[in-house]
Order: sequence, then structure tokens, then C-alpha cells
Amino acid sequence: MQQARIAMYDIEERSARYVECLARHGAEVTLFKYVDTSREAESIASSFDGLLLPGGVDIEPALYGMPLKSCCGETDDLRDGVELLLASAFIAAKKPVLGICRGCQMLNVAMGGTLVQDIAVELGSGTLKHNDAEHKMGGTHDIEISGDSLLCSLVKAERLFVNSVHHQSAARVAPGLTVSATSADGVIEAVESATDFILGVQWHPELLAAADPQEDSLFAAFTEECERVRSAVDAA
Ligand code: MN
Repeated sequence: MQQARIAMYDIEERSARYVECLARHGAEVTLFKYVDTSREAESIASSFDGLLLPGGVDIEPALYGMPLKSCCGETDDLRDGVELLLASAFIAAKKPVLGICRGCQMLNVAMGGTLVQDIAVELGSGTLKHNDAEHKMGGTHDIEISGDSLLCSLVKAERLFVNSVHHQSAARVAPGLTVSATSADGVIEAVESATDFILGVQWHPELLAAADPQEDSLFAAFTEECERVRSAVDAA
């Protein structure tokens, strides 16, 4: 198998934890800070094998056609623009995409879905605590995973105790994505494509993967799929 070459937006010192999770499986990760045009993004998508969309700040609501509410947090126009270009290009090229936290939300937005701008404000006080940084290295709540999903085939479980450091989540799920996990309050915790390796998880496996084989399985499978893509390209 050829070494997987994975692209990721450069989140500076916070990039390392994601890079390590992929490097552990033999992938080479290249960080991008500036991508200005769809042509440039298409060129990256054609020379790389997969895209990792990492965690971070909120996404500008105008990008999913909603007015900005006061409950929305900090946004980053530069990052939104670059990640939207990259996500669209990799999805169009049918290359694997793994989205984590904000990355899960970015996948949904890039494919035409919308977001909850704040879970407690929009979905009510009956929701679980989802923004629990204190327990990010352990866990906060269970998720229920669809038995026929890609996610279930990776973690080999229909229930998983996950960490939770988010205040937003997918609202209307994009055409082309399905919900593969929810928490007991109905919050969408994972989305995926039925046809391609496109997976978004709302929790943070990169914080747990070194010590937890179920969490690590996401990075292992993503890297393996990228290697498969590389080998197929090289054979063509
Ligand atoms: Mn959560």
C-alpha cells in the first residue's frame, strides 16, 4: 500500500494532536492555511488522498442561509472559506473526508445542511450538557449508533461513551448525508454518506485515540481508505 497523503487546514499548535493520530497509522499530513480558489482546492483534492476537517470555532450562519443569532460563538471567515473550498473539492472528487466537531458541522454545511447555533438555546434546557471541557479527556454522555452505519462497523458498537466539547450541532441534515449517531436528547452526534467514506463525528476522538482502540479505529479506517484511494490512483 502507498502512504496516504492527507490534507488539513492549519490550526497551528492545535494541529499536532490530529496529525499524530494519522501519523500513527502511517499517513503524511500536509497543513494548508491559504486556499483562494476552487481551482486551487480541486488541484489539492486531485493530488491528495483525503481531507481531515478538525475542531474549532463556529461557522458563519450566512454560509448555511441563516441569520446570525446572539447565541452563535466566534467565527473565522478565512478558515470558513478555505475549509468550504477544500470540503467541496474532496467530496466532488469522491475522496475520503473525516470531520471532527466543527469538521462534522463543516461537512454538513458544505453539503447543504444547516446548524443549531446553540444547543441549549435552540433545543431547550432539557438537553444534555454538551459543552463539557472539564471531561474532554474522559467522557460526558453516551451516543446511540445506527447498527447499519459505517461508524458502527468501525467502533463495532451501537453505544459509545464520548467526550463532548461543542455547543452547536447539525440541524437539517444535508442531502447526501444520514445521521449515524445521536445522544439521548436527540442531538446529532455523527453523520455519514451512504456511498462514500465521508464521516463526521461531533465528539473529539483525537483526544482519546492513543489509549482507546474504538476511538482510534476512526483514524485507522480513514487512513486505510486514503491508502486504498492512493493505490487505485497509482494503478490507473
Ligand atoms: Mn455531545
